[in-house]
Amino acid sequence: MRANDLKGGEVAKAMESALAPRITALKNRRMIPTLAIVRVGENPGDVYYQRSAARRCEALGITVEVFAFSESIAEEQLANEILNLNMDERIHGVLILRPLPGHIDDRAICKALDPKKDVDGVTDRSLAGIIKNEPQGFAPCTARACIEILKHFKIEIAGKNIVVIGRSLVVGKPLSLMLTALDATVTVCHTKTKDLPAIARGADILVAAAGRSRMITKEYVREDAVVIDVGINTDENGKLSGDVDYNGVCDAVSAITPVPGGVGTVTTAVLAAQVVEAAERS
Ligand code: NAP
Repeated sequence: MRANDLKGGEVAKAMESALAPRITALKNRRMIPTLAIVRVGENPGDVYYQRSAARRCEALGITVEVFAFSESIAEEQLANEILNLNMDERIHGVLILRPLPGHIDDRAICKALDPKKDVDGVTDRSLAGIIKNEPQGFAPCTARACIEILKHFKIEIAGKNIVVIGRSLVVGKPLSLMLTALDATVTVCHTKTKDLPAIARGADILVAAAGRSRMITKEYVREDAVVIDVGINTDENGKLSGDVDYNGVCDAVSAITPVPGGVGTVTTAVLAAQVVEAAERS
C-alpha cells in the first residue's frame, strides 16, 4: 500500500457506517434486509465472491441465503427458481453469480428477475434506468463502486476526460453512461480501439476493466492521472492481479486503486447498500 492508494476499505467503511442506522430502522419495522445469492456450479471464483459478500453483509445485519444449483441445471428450471425468489416476500434482493454455464442464456435468466429485487443491475429495466439517467432499478454494483471511490476521495468527475477500457454490460458500458450523466467526457475503448496507449494517456481518470492481467503499463498513463483498476485476474503464476501493472504505474500517477483492496472491496459494500435500498422500497 502506498500513500497515493485509493483504499477501497476506507470507502466501504464509510458506506457501511451510513447503512447501520438504515438497517436498524428496517429492523424496528420488523424487516430484516435479506439477500439471495444464486450460484450454479462450483466455480472457485463464484464460491469466493459468495462467501466474502455473505460475510460482509451478515456483519451488517443483512441475512444472506445461498441458492446453489448443480452445473447441469436446465435453463427453464433455473428461470423457475428465479421466479420463486421473485414471489418470496422474505427476499429483498437477488444476486445471480455470472457468467452462468454455457448451456444457459444469461440474459434469459436476468430477464426472469423482478427488477425490484435486481440489486446487481442486470435486468433490462435497471439498464434502461442507466441509459435514461432515471432512478429505476439499480446500478451494476461494480460500476457504482468505481463512482463511490471517486466521490469518497473527492476526485472531480464533471468536465474530466475519462477513458474506460472495456465495454461489457457488467462494468464498462454502464459505468461510461453513469460517468457521462455526471458530466464527464467519456471515451470507451475495446479490443478494436487503435493506439490505446495514446488514448489512455489523454485521460484525467483512467478506468481499466478489460480483464487482462497487468496490461496497463506506464506508457498508458499521464503523470497526474487517477487510475481505477477494476480487473480481477490471475497472473501466469496463479497470483491475483489487476488490469494495471501496479508496481510499474503507482509512482507515475496521482492516485490508484490497488488490487486487492480497491474496487472489489467497495463492490460488496455497494451490494449491501442496494439490498438495504430494495428492502426500504418494498
Ligand atoms: P468482459 O466481459 O470480458 O469484457 C472485457 C472488455 O474489455 C471487453 O469490452 C473487451 O473488448 C475489452 N478488452 C479486453 N481486452 C482488451 C484489450 N487488450 N484492449 C482493449 N480492450 C480490451 O469482462 P468484464 O466482466 O467487464 O470484467 C472486466 C474485468 O473486471 C475482469 O478482470 C473481471 O474479473 C473484473 N471484475 C471485477 C469486479 C469487481 O468487483 N472488482 C466485478 C466484475 C468484474 P471487446 O468488447 O472488443 O471484446
